[in-house]
Amino acid sequence: MEVIVVGAGVTGIACAHSLLKHGHRVTFVEEASSPNQGCSFAMNGFLGARSVQMLCTPFAGKAGLASIFAKTRRVGWDVTLGHMRFLRQLANARAHDKWVQDRASLEELARYSVGLIEFLSRLEDINFEQTYGLARVFTNDQAWEQAHKDETSWRGGDWRSVDQSKVLDPALEEVPSMLGSFYMPQELCGNGSYFSKQIQNLNLADPNLTMMYHTKVTGLLKTDSKITGVQTDKGDISADAVVLSNNLGALPLIENIINLPTQVLTGWTVTAPISIENIAPRHTIEFTNKDVLVSRFGNRLRVSGRYWIGEVTHDLSEKVPAELYDSVCELLPHGAVWRDSTHWEGKTLIVPDSLPVCGACDVEGLYLNLCHGVNGWTLSLGCAELIASAISQERCPIDGTAFLPSRFAKK
Ligand SMILES: Cc1cc2nc3c(=O)[nH]c(=O)nc-3n(C[C@H](O)[C@H](O)[C@H](O)COP(=O)(O)OP(=O)(O)OC[C@H]3O[C@@H](n4cnc5c(N)ncnc54)[C@H](O)[C@@H]3O)c2cc1C
Repeated sequence: MEVIVVGAGVTGIACAHSLLKHGHRVTFVEEASSPNQGCSFAMNGFLGARSVQMLCTPFAGKAGLASIFAKTRRVGWDVTLGHMRFLRQLANARAHDKWVQDRASLEELARYSVGLIEFLSRLEDINFEQTYGLARVFTNDQAWEQAHKDETSWRGGDWRSVDQSKVLDPALEEVPSMLGSFYMPQELCGNGSYFSKQIQNLNLADPNLTMMYHTKVTGLLKTDSKITGVQTDKGDISADAVVLSNNLGALPLIENIINLPTQVLTGWTVTAPISIENIAPRHTIEFTNKDVLVSRFGNRLRVSGRYWIGEVTHDLSEKVPAELYDSVCELLPHGAVWRDSTHWEGKTLIVPDSLPVCGACDVEGLYLNLCHGVNGWTLSLGCAELIASAISQERCPIDGTAFLPSRFAKK
C-alpha cells in the first residue's frame, strides 16, 4: 500500500521504519529541514519499560489531585476552565480499577517497544549512548516511608541502603540527606534523537521510501467516507493510508474528525557537559521526591522533571529551567559543569488517561500516532508496530485496543 507518514520526530521515524518492514511504500512529509526538530530534539531519552509515566498515577507523590496541581500549575489566577476540565477527567482516569488496567496495557506496550528498540540497535549495531540502570533516590522521610508502605507497586528492582547506593553509583556520595534508593537494573536510557536519526539513515537506503522535507501538510484529502491523501504547501499527495505522527501539528488536521480531549504538556531539560574532574552518575538517577530525573548521554548529563499543562508564559519558560538548574546543583554539585549548561523547552500532547492515541480512526484510511505524553520515545517502535500491523491487516503480538482513538467520542 501507499502510506503517507506526517512528522519526522521519534514516533514518525519509527512508524515509517515499521511500515517499510511490512512491505509498504512510504512517503514521509516533514515541515522542518531535518528530523527531530520538534519535541524529540532534546528530551530526556529515558526508556523506562517498567517506569512509564502516567499523570493520573494514584500512587504518585503527594496524595490526590494536589500532586498534579503541584506538578503542573501552582494554583493561581491563570487556571483556565480547560485546565479544570482536564483535571476532572484526570481524576476519573485515576479510578483505581481503570488505572490498574490502563497501567498494565501501557507497561505491556512499553516493554514490547523497548524490546524492539534494543533488538534493532543490536541487529543494526546502533550506538545511541545507551546506559542501563535507574536508581530512584529518596531524600525525604515521608516519601521514603510512603514508598515502603506501597512496596507492592515497586517492582523490577531492589531496595538499597545509603551505603549500597553509594557503591552502586559513586556520584551519589555527594547527594545531601540521601535515605536510600530503589535500583532497577534493566531500565534503559539513551539519546533518542540520535537513535532515530540512525534509523532514518537506514530507511533512506530503502527504495520504497520517499522523503519530503520543507513540506507542510495543510489538510487531509477526503472523499465521502475515506481519507485519500494530504494537501501540502507543495501540492496534493494521494495515498491509501495517512498516519499522523506530527504531535501538536495534527490538531488542526483532525478537528472536524475526532474530538480528542488533549492538553499541551510542556517540559524542560537542562544539559551540561561532563569534564574529567566531574563525578558523573553512571546510571539514570531519579530524585523521586524532588521530581528531578538525571540521565547520562556520553559526555553530557541531561536533567528534566517539571511539566506544565496549558499556556506557558515567557516568565515560566525562564523560571522552570532555573529551578531545575538549582535543584541539580544542590543534588549533584560536581556531576557536570553546570555553569556551561544549556536549556530546552518541548511540547507534547497528552490525554487524561495518559495512554497514547494510536491506531485506526473511524474514518477509513486515517491512522493516529499521537498523545504520547512524556513516553514518546519509549513507546515509539511499539506504536509503530501497532499501526503497521493495522494497515497490513496483520495480528500484532500485543493487543492495542486500549490505545485506539475510538475510545473518545466522535464529533
Ligand atoms: C522535557 C521532556 C522530556 C521528555 N523525556 C522523555 C523521555 O525521557 N522518554 C520518552 O520516552 N519520552 C520523553 N518525552 C516525550 C517525547 O519527547 C515525545 O513524546 C516525543 O518526542 C514525541 O515525538 P513525535 O515524533 O510524536 O513529535 P515531534 O518530535 O514533535 O515531531 C513532530 C514532527 O512533526 C512535524 N510537523 C508538525 N506539523 C506538521 C505538518 N503540518 N506538516 C509536516 N510536518 C509537521 C514537526 O516539524 C516535527 O518534526 C519528553 C518530553 C519532554 C517535553
